Amino acid sequence: MSTQRAKLVVGNWKMHGRLAENAALLQAVAKGAGELPADVRVGVCVPTPYLAQAQSLLDGSRVMWGVQDVSAFTQGAYTGEVSAQMVTDFAATFAIVGHSERRAYHRESADLVAVKTQRALEAGLTPIVCVGETLDEREAGATEQVVGAQLDEVLAKLSVQEAARIVVAYEPVWAIGTGKSATAGQAQAVHAFLRGRLAAKGAEIAGVPLLYGGSVKPDNAEELFRQQDIDGGLIGGASLKDQDFLAICKAAAATTAAG
Ligand code: PEP
Repeated sequence: MSTQRAKLVVGNWKMHGRLAENAALLQAVAKGAGELPADVRVGVCVPTPYLAQAQSLLDGSRVMWGVQDVSAFTQGAYTGEVSAQMVTDFAATFAIVGHSERRAYHRESADLVAVKTQRALEAGLTPIVCVGETLDEREAGATEQVVGAQLDEVLAKLSVQEAARIVVAYEPVWAIGTGKSATAGQAQAVHAFLRGRLAAKGAEIAGVPLLYGGSVKPDNAEELFRQQDIDGGLIGGASLKDQDFLAICKAAAATTAAG
């Protein structure tokens, strides 16, 4: 069991929030996270315009911050884009890349996701690389083929040293925002597969944190986090409510050595 392993819980606010409500949420999360054991790490990925706010309210707390996407370009005439370097000006830690909503609504290809991962790493950010299958793909028995190909495309562009610095999030598309989480067994099976895929690239990256995302809530988090290859969660809807997000962080704490 992974009950002795450290956990990482990261919120993905998606396109939610306004200055006043963010302040209350960030302050509550910072306060609550201060009571967690040291082997539970916590982060929030906010909409980019609120990065400075996250920095000013979270600096000095246990909570790290980041963004939900970065550009595949480093700089130049790319109107509307935000580079990974710009994000580091705000002392951010994380950049989510390849979220299924970006793959679906912004037509992001596996290759583009891999390039964005490279840009994030070059800038010193920790990319949280999302992979996941649709319901049709699962029902066709293609889950491993789909998530394996998504991960391989990223790994192919990275050295072993670079790959050791990523985080991978398994987020079945059918479980995101639907209230229908994967069962702990379903999630663990895919995580074990992904762990094997990472280990095949190099022993150094077998320990890359593997987060589960998809309708994680206070009442299902602990069972998910107790699975051998689940190192924490990427939390969407429930990260917008301080009490739910902190309850999920506490569920993670219950599964670690110090918890
Ligand atoms: C997500 O968007 O990354 C996510 C996991 O969403 P939710 O928790 O709302 O399913």
